[in-house]
Amino acid sequence: MIELKNVSKWYGNFQVLTDCTTQVAKGDVVVVCGPSGSGKSTLIKAVNGLEPFQKGEIVVDGISVGDPKTNLSKLRARIGMVFQNFELFPHLSITENLTIGQIKVLGRSVDDARVRGLKYLDRVGLIAQKDKFPGQLSGGQQQRVAIARALSMDPIAMLFDEPTSALDPEMINEVLDVMVGLAQEGMTMMVVTHEMGFAKRVANRVVFMDQGLIVEDCSKEEFFNTQRSERARDFLAKII
Ligand code: ADP
Ligand code: MG
Repeated sequence: MIELKNVSKWYGNFQVLTDCTTQVAKGDVVVVCGPSGSGKSTLIKAVNGLEPFQKGEIVVDGISVGDPKTNLSKLRARIGMVFQNFELFPHLSITENLTIGQIKVLGRSVDDARVRGLKYLDRVGLIAQKDKFPGQLSGGQQQRVAIARALSMDPIAMLFDEPTSALDPEMINEVLDVMVGLAQEGMTMMVVTHEMGFAKRVANRVVFMDQGLIVEDCSKEEFFNTQRSERARDFLAKII
């Protein structure tokens, strides 16, 4: 479903990604972790064309992301992305947040978009909030709305970039529970997170990055149980 081959990227002289190669099969849940500044956000944003890269290839569902002929907005419409800071439209109601992309990007009718959007809002447990504005919701609730918004676009895969890092501790689980549910239903997911409990519960694979390199790419069992790089060991020792 998602294939990265020798992806390299530079900011000026600074190489932020070096020969990154990995795959995400349909239904896989791949957790990407590693120290701050190791290139995790850059890598995940490159997958849906939000970060250009200079070398290598990324293919998503048969579409080459780096190909100048690729229609990136069309590709992005098919991949759900959830960021650390929710990025809801503050001036739109929750329902409008859920429907605007469906209407403008997918061309759905207002009624159709509303029915679909509210179905996902109900699923993340927030139907009672449908007429509120993002600023009236807690961080955990806003992030669940952001997930519902992404799902209402019928994505073929979901990318998450530290979705719980900006949340107060008591709100982390309500977001992780929604993500665990998605994983268990077979959604293809690439998740940048330091929540190793989430990784242990639902990941098939763990990718560990350090200084722009994919240092480990293995099953979660291998990652947590067996011999691994010193850098990964140091990282785990600090966060668990
Ligand atoms: P992570 O998500 O793992 O914390 P990032 O992908 O955000 O890492 O960043 C990787 C590295 O690239 C960091 O050293 C960061 O400072 C650098 N970087 C990120 N964005 C830019 C930019 N626009 N210009 C220059 N350097 C950048
Ligand atoms: Mg990051």
